[in-house]
Amino acid sequence: MSKKVTIVGAGLVGSLLSIYLAKRGYTVNIFERRSDMRKEKMSAGKSINLALSDRGWRGLEGIGIADEIRKIAIPMFGRFIHLKNGSTSFQPYGKKEQAIYSVSRADINMKLMDLAEQQPNVKIHFNERCTTLDRNAVEAHFENSGSQKTTAVKSDLVFGADGAFAASRLNMQLSSDRFEYNQHYIEAGYKELIIPPGAAGEFLIEKNALHIWPRGTFMMIALPNTDGNFTCTLFLPFEGEKSFTSLKTREQVKLFFETEFPDAVPLMPTLIDDFMNNPTSSLVTVKCFPWTFDNKIGLIGDAAHAIVPFYGQGMNCGFEDCVVLNELIEKHKENWNEIFPEYQSLRKPDADAIADLAIMNFIEMRDKTADPKFLLQKKIEARFSEKHPDKWIPLYSMVTYSPHIRYSAAFQNGQKQEAIMQKIMAAADIDKKWDSDEVEKEILKYL
Ligand SMILES: Cc1cc2nc3c(=O)[nH]c(=O)nc-3n(C[C@H](O)[C@H](O)[C@H](O)COP(=O)(O)OP(=O)(O)OC[C@H]3O[C@@H](n4cnc5c(N)ncnc54)[C@H](O)[C@@H]3O)c2cc1C
Repeated sequence: MSKKVTIVGAGLVGSLLSIYLAKRGYTVNIFERRSDMRKEKMSAGKSINLALSDRGWRGLEGIGIADEIRKIAIPMFGRFIHLKNGSTSFQPYGKKEQAIYSVSRADINMKLMDLAEQQPNVKIHFNERCTTLDRNAVEAHFENSGSQKTTAVKSDLVFGADGAFAASRLNMQLSSDRFEYNQHYIEAGYKELIIPPGAAGEFLIEKNALHIWPRGTFMMIALPNTDGNFTCTLFLPFEGEKSFTSLKTREQVKLFFETEFPDAVPLMPTLIDDFMNNPTSSLVTVKCFPWTFDNKIGLIGDAAHAIVPFYGQGMNCGFEDCVVLNELIEKHKENWNEIFPEYQSLRKPDADAIADLAIMNFIEMRDKTADPKFLLQKKIEARFSEKHPDKWIPLYSMVTYSPHIRYSAAFQNGQKQEAIMQKIMAAADIDKKWDSDEVEKEILKYL
């Protein structure tokens, strides 16, 4: 059987997928719009980082490369909250040893490309932008950004791994009847800023935590990088009183930060220049269906399901797509007429669930992490879960540390748990009796 595969996009998911397929004997050609980032020097302080958690690790472990990535990952054991009055607190993410990991997007992407190219049957073609994808001919067309030369590539299978604004998906949408498509921009956008290392290269705030400055309708977060920097991301509405639109001048930016993030400002010497120079980006959720076409073309990663970043799961979910696909290749003995239908029917509800959870987590991060009642609820859940781990896994832990629980199941369990907790929290004296047997028994009763 011929096993020629084209992958559009050498991002995080396309690169990982190529390794999975190569290990199964497929000949894989990846076509990437950008130039080879490994040949360009990244300027200091420009690294953007992502939180990698258990679903992502599982994807990396599946092809034996987790240890390589571990070398460039920093564990974050909880949220480090910075309130406006200068007080701080630490909220663990789960049990003591449980962490999510900060990795530089560029580092992990470059590593995955290196590992892909180490496979004798993978080749990455750079500066090749997919322009069209001919569904009937299973033929992808690329235009070289240097020579403008166009190439038509025929193969047995094509994967669109070209991200949230995928050309592959658009082509499938245009050539399919009843293609469902929904894109939703949230009211907030984001801008990346930086906390550089101290004079001796040291981390200026707690290294092993994800820092959050929750401010109700907006927030700033910071994740550590291996070189001592923190990448900060300001999530702020585009419009309104406190918004990107209201921050036009250097003075307005200075005043805004001094008022809202007084403890961060002294740590951000290039703040105003960064704010004025760095782009403001938007945040989109994309839901679509189908993800596969004629059992020859499939969408994967953000191309199939772009989500907002507030659960830190976009890449993790894309890596999980690869794991599931790999399991289905095994199960159906490479019969793609069976693999593709099951792939999309399994993954679509999971992708929808994490998309919705990610939106919900924005509210939790920017608002509730500073709310004492919410923190008490989390304490009650953590206590109960510790005593009854077989009966209750907190939603965050199901999503982040339980790769064998599907996102859709985590979502449903989370809804049930929230309904129970609303009843528990309604008790007037809950702050006094939160750790009592009475509360424990009540939760058991509702379960
Ligand atoms: C601010 C922010 C923070 C995030 N934080 C996290 C996090 O903490 N944890 C997490 O798990 N996820 C996070 N994500 C999500 C994560 O970045 C994505 O889910 C992930 O990058 C998806 O990988 P992908 O390979 O599907 O797409 P991408 O990484 O977007 O890769 C797509 C590739 O396709 C190429 N391409 C695009 N169009 C074409 C074309 N026409 N022809 C050829 N090539 C093309 C692109 O150049 C790119 O290399 C975050 C996202 C954002 C925006």
